Amino acid sequence: MSSVKPAETNTPRKYQLFIDGKFVDAESGKTFNSPNPATGDTFAEVAEADKADIDKAVAAARRAFEGKWSRISARDRGRMLYKLAQLIEQNAAQLAETETSDNGKPIRESTYVDIPQAAENFEYFAGWATKIEGETIPVPGEMFNYTLREPVGVCGQIIPWNFPLLMAAWKLAPALAAGNTVVLKPAEQTPAGAMELAKLIQEAGFPDGVVNIVPGFGETAGAALASHPGIDKIAFTGSTEVGKIIAKTAGENLTKVSLELGGKAPNIVFADADMDQAVNGAMMGIFFNQGQVCCAGSRIFLDAKVKDEFLDRFKTRAEGVKVGNPMDQGTQMGPQVSCEQLDRIKGYVGIARSEGATVFSGGEAPELEESFKNGYFFKPTIFSEVNNKMRVAQEEIFGPVTSVITFTDEEDLLRQANDTIYGLSAGIWTNDLARAHRFARNIKAGVIWINTFNMFNAASPFGGFKQSGYGREMGKHALQLYTQVKSVWVDLSGKPIGWFGK
Ligand code: NAP
Ligand code: MG
Repeated sequence: MSSVKPAETNTPRKYQLFIDGKFVDAESGKTFNSPNPATGDTFAEVAEADKADIDKAVAAARRAFEGKWSRISARDRGRMLYKLAQLIEQNAAQLAETETSDNGKPIRESTYVDIPQAAENFEYFAGWATKIEGETIPVPGEMFNYTLREPVGVCGQIIPWNFPLLMAAWKLAPALAAGNTVVLKPAEQTPAGAMELAKLIQEAGFPDGVVNIVPGFGETAGAALASHPGIDKIAFTGSTEVGKIIAKTAGENLTKVSLELGGKAPNIVFADADMDQAVNGAMMGIFFNQGQVCCAGSRIFLDAKVKDEFLDRFKTRAEGVKVGNPMDQGTQMGPQVSCEQLDRIKGYVGIARSEGATVFSGGEAPELEESFKNGYFFKPTIFSEVNNKMRVAQEEIFGPVTSVITFTDEEDLLRQANDTIYGLSAGIWTNDLARAHRFARNIKAGVIWINTFNMFNAASPFGGFKQSGYGREMGKHALQLYTQVKSVWVDLSGKPIGWFGK
């Protein structure tokens, strides 16, 4: 089974590419280092895929798709997915440790969120494998018309670093359930989780080439995958900026594309809300996973009537967040994923000040013990006195940084909440049932949370409106991304067709 080194050893782990069922070096022999964001030390040394490796992986995926995988029954596909879910559960502790070491997220989160939800997604889609059906259509005349729902083919999948293993699960599970084969590129910052998953995929018995995992850089490996004429579909999660590049590239070959991109979610607190719950929801909305969440509640719209009360409580709670060693069970926030992300966040603190917002809490790196002095830590940060036109209210910061905007008028609030290029999610805190549903209906976003935030389930669709992307992951909606419909006509009359007949 998986050859994971204990956390205490400082020797970097080594990972190869997973192509055609085997672990292999890159054709170029190149490798890159993935740091542990808590210390800055190298956590893993990873083979670096390039165009040549992508070509190999796509060819292997094609052979598997046309060959062995196409002859495997839906039931057996489901069983393999279910076995994979079980293997994830059996290896949960070491997978959680891998995620935390590579990404920096608190061990509590990887243990109770990332790993169980990854298993849940494989388990959920295992059940779908045998339930993907066509339909019969009542057409006129002596004709029989039915549809087949077939896999799309070879799918390229490019994922980000914020939930490394979970994003792999969101992408792989529906694709495999529907009978596709996959070439998946993890983010350069966090390749380890997907490579550990590759070992379990091998163990679960998937035929060679059904899943290929090729870590490497976006501009090389990612671009080679997205532009490859041998893929039938590309699925991408990441920044809106790169999403646009992917959509353009995919357009060249008319490759099918689905995109899950950025967000700038309004998290709206009405005066009648339960304040404890709302403050909790604001915390969960922006400090979970160090704020590196596409659906993060990064714009808190606050009813002016409760401004002082809410902000006081929010600040006290934010200042009480335990930031530090992500391996400690009690840690609530670990480091940001990379030095680059940390610098980006610091840059936005400067931008907030220059725009006239107030840095109400945080806004700097915390003091930590010596061993974490090179880590990419940042304090939970609240900007107040923000207006929705400011850059800090419009641009995705992707850190534990939220902007508080007060409102007095419901109509104006709705206009501002929707005044963003994004439309991924929104939170609403109120005890007024009609208002909650009115907002749920009028906010232009793919996911709405009422008196809760960051709720996910493998059965429930997730995805964006506007520039937050297109396509829905999870639930039965995800199957639409990975299947295509074929309509079959059969003549039952035995008579010649129309006016050209004898
Ligand atoms: P990103 O560049 O969009 O990266 C996402 C994935 O796309 C990674 O696997 C990346 O590879 C790959 N990629 C990058 N350029 C590519 C290209 N030209 N062609 C094909 N693939 C490409 O995101 P990032 O640079 O890691 O983060 C920047 C910002 O994106 C964040 O600050 C945040 O605002 C946003 N973001 C959003 C999400 C989300 O879930 N919506 C997730 C992560 C980041 P590499 O890892 O090698 O770059
Ligand atoms: Mg790393």
